[in-house]
Amino acid sequence: MASRIEKLCVEKGMKMTGQRRVIAQVISDAHDHPDTEEVYRRAAKIDPNISIATVYRTVRMFEEAAIVEKHDFGDGRARYEEVTDTHHDHLIDIKSGKVVEFFNAEIEKLKEKIAKELGYKLVDHRLELYAVPLNDK
Ligand SMILES: [Zn+2]
Repeated sequence: MASRIEKLCVEKGMKMTGQRRVIAQVISDAHDHPDTEEVYRRAAKIDPNISIATVYRTVRMFEEAAIVEKHDFGDGRARYEEVTDTHHDHLIDIKSGKVVEFFNAEIEKLKEKIAKELGYKLVDHRLELYAVPLNDK
């Protein structure tokens, strides 16, 4: 079964080697915004011949083709996730490093309103909330 990323790559005319296919699969399956090293660890479990350099190169290629999105959640590590049709924002638990996805219609409206008031049409945005758990002793 081809992953969603793999299908997009083929649509964009990229040549899909076995290793690229594995890396595409790993990112498609991930729901935790892994960094490149984590993508490498998971890919190497499927194909031990994959090198970290190949993972770096492939992830960059996916990123340039706007198939995966790069995030920086403040810890200096580039994290990746598959680009989806539906927008979401992120809350980062700075204690555990856990990333929580959320969508808030009011915030979305507000961002458009702010851009409009400044004389712009909003085309893209990012919002990251950095937080600690409320009932953390
Ligand atoms: Zn996300």
